[in-house]
Amino acid sequence: MGSVLRIGLGYDVHRFEAGGPLRLGGVDIDHDHHLAGHSDADALLHAVTDALLGAAALGDIGELFPDTDPAHRGGNSAEMLELAWRQVLEQGWELVNLDCVVHLQRPKLLPYREPIRASVARILNVDVDQIWLKAKTGESVGPIGRGEALAVQCVALLRKTGSP
Ligand code: MG
Repeated sequence: MGSVLRIGLGYDVHRFEAGGPLRLGGVDIDHDHHLAGHSDADALLHAVTDALLGAAALGDIGELFPDTDPAHRGGNSAEMLELAWRQVLEQGWELVNLDCVVHLQRPKLLPYREPIRASVARILNVDVDQIWLKAKTGESVGPIGRGEALAVQCVALLRKTGSP
């Protein structure tokens, strides 16, 4: 039995707008700003989706869920991730692990790390120890440091086990 590994990289950025809560990783965080976007603007789930799709060479979130399609307006990013993940699973892939970096000036993400890890693990139906998450401020410079935007980077490792 041989095993194939594939790595995928996901990235997303969304603008902040006044008024909370901040939806991240499927968790509503108590904050005075939210992310603006066509869907529910959950930048973390968007980056996770792109990392998984990229590792499996199955396209990207913009191809699967075009923002020109009114059906996706206000869309639930957890449902989009579930649909994308199902396509990846159908190709015989399983998740080894996901590692994400959230770039944001505020709020502090550490108190929300465990709920977010649990939420992402629940969406993908994997163990929480396969998901990691950390946060970096923008050092008060640039659009992230000024609190105008939030960005997420995510890497995913997939494994496929089959006949040699
Ligand atoms: Mg997005």
